[in-house]
Amino acid sequence: MHMKKIGVMGGTFNPIHIGHMMLAEAARDEFSLDEIWLIPTGFSYMKNPRDVLSAEERYRMTCLAVKDNDKMRCLDMEIRRQGRTYSYETMEELKDSFPETEFFFLVGADCLFAMESWKFPERLFRACSIIAAVREGTDMPKMERKRLELEQRYGAIIFLFSFRNLEISSTDIRERIYGGKSIRYLVPDIVMRYIEKNGLYKY
Ligand code: ATP
Ligand code: MG
Repeated sequence: MHMKKIGVMGGTFNPIHIGHMMLAEAARDEFSLDEIWLIPTGFSYMKNPRDVLSAEERYRMTCLAVKDNDKMRCLDMEIRRQGRTYSYETMEELKDSFPETEFFFLVGADCLFAMESWKFPERLFRACSIIAAVREGTDMPKMERKRLELEQRYGAIIFLFSFRNLEISSTDIRERIYGGKSIRYLVPDIVMRYIEKNGLYKY
């Protein structure tokens, strides 16, 4: 029997942009994943709440972004949870709900250096494998050492794959909107229209 392979990408998605989508698509392709599930964070304790749009709005934009792609879905499981949300909880919940599925947690490789400070990293590593996207020009030996370290310490399974460095971030998009600049082609059209229609990120 074929175990379904699902890539899971968490993020603030404030807002979702084509860097996120290209990363998701590249990982799907590279690892022959059946689907990618995008999971916007609820309350993000790593970020200043003043800068982050409501979970509902971020979720709505993320859903719009994947609306026409039957290989991508957007899940509201973190935005429905009260209080802080942690990746280990999400991945354990998914693993329990879909026992016939193999989950891959998709992150930027810089996250490899932060993961140990996340809550219960050993539980996250037990629930899923990690796909870490390494930007071109990154110190690969340093990444490999970190990978080995996490594998030895936690039994983590980590795949590195190289992904081109797109100079695009949600922060930049928010600043462009605030400065009255165009965000066309940086976010999916449908997301751009949603932002415009609702006057988001203008403060
Ligand atoms: P912000 O600027 O608000 O920090 P962001 O653009 O970094 O937002 P996040 O929602 O914080 O977006 O990121 C979610 C995930 O997407 C992270 O794993 C991050 O490493 C990855 N990511 C963000 N931007 C890019 C990009 N341009 N290329 C590849 N991966 C990216
Ligand atoms: Mg970021």
